[in-house]
Amino acid sequence: MTADAKALKFVDLVNRVVACTRCPRMADSARVLGPGCGPLKAPLVFVGEAPGRLGADGSHLPFHGDKSGHNFERLIEQVGISRYEVFVTNAVLCNPKDERGNNATPSPAEIANCAPFLRETLELVDPAVVVTLGAVALKACSLLEPHSLSLREHVRTANVWMKRTLIPAYHPGQRAMIHRSFANQLSDYQYVAETLRRQRQPKRKVSSSKPRPDAAKLGIVARRILEGKAEGLSYFALHKLCFLAELASLEANGERMTNAYVVRQKDGPYFVDLHAAKLPQLIEGVQLRSEGGKLMLALPSQLALEDEAALTAPALSLSDRATVDSVLEKYGHLSDAELKRTVYLSHVMRDLLRQERATGANLYNAAVLPFKSQT
Ligand code: SF4
Repeated sequence: MTADAKALKFVDLVNRVVACTRCPRMADSARVLGPGCGPLKAPLVFVGEAPGRLGADGSHLPFHGDKSGHNFERLIEQVGISRYEVFVTNAVLCNPKDERGNNATPSPAEIANCAPFLRETLELVDPAVVVTLGAVALKACSLLEPHSLSLREHVRTANVWMKRTLIPAYHPGQRAMIHRSFANQLSDYQYVAETLRRQRQPKRKVSSSKPRPDAAKLGIVARRILEGKAEGLSYFALHKLCFLAELASLEANGERMTNAYVVRQKDGPYFVDLHAAKLPQLIEGVQLRSEGGKLMLALPSQLALEDEAALTAPALSLSDRATVDSVLEKYGHLSDAELKRTVYLSHVMRDLLRQERATGANLYNAAVLPFKSQT
């Protein structure tokens, strides 16, 4: 979309917001959306809860004019993010007040009323990174595309959402500082700035072609494993469980489920087609986040249920499904360390290590599993 077309669409959006009367108690509040929110080509959008009575309701600029705005502006300034390069908005665009005229939390109905405006804004600006400020903003985003993120568990993590990166952060208001100190929030904003910097680096060319059939089948197996782990699992565990599933199939049926290439690496078997950068293409809807230095994966529960019949059933035979499910039942509860031990105790890995010792050859990156016979 050209810059002019974007600008026209934004004017139309702002006009509709200004005329909006969906929330009765917001009748006298300012509609806080306009050019002052930021450039329409901003790479980063901050989404807050609602305009504050002493801030944006008067200044007409989100996070400006009150204590929350002051904290927000200090935080971004200290990590080198300019307000002029980002877009700032709220889950609801008008200030909700209680019966005494004080700031109130927007109701679920008010958040739902305003969600289409948030969606339009995000689609128009099309940022690479969205940062939610507070639990209300994070929840509001789940109305646009379901996610299972919680502020407590997923603060300062990068998650794939609406084909962009979503980072949950705390609200910069004084009340939230009780739960997350200014120093801690500063670290969160440093993480945001670093994520933004990485997004801006020229990307390595990634093939947009469809995954090879072998990789696609592996994606279905991986998806089945993720469906069985509602709480998510580590990237490391996904590789090991896929390996154990392939091994179980080989032992039970004489052949593997897929022909994906699996090689030996330092931590054991590694599926080349399950490279982290390829996962969103391979497993539709997968959410990635970093947790304690580990890459974690999960499927939004709603997506897993809705898509199960459409995606898993026709692509995996009943016997393959039974194999994957039995592996999950047997090994799905193991920690990463236990999975590593289990994998290394398999006859395939023991044979490989024995061969390495006997020949003195370096079998790093050697194929670990035989290819299945082509019929
Ligand atoms: S909060 Fe949003 S939906 Fe509600 S009146 Fe304001 S602009 Fe309309």
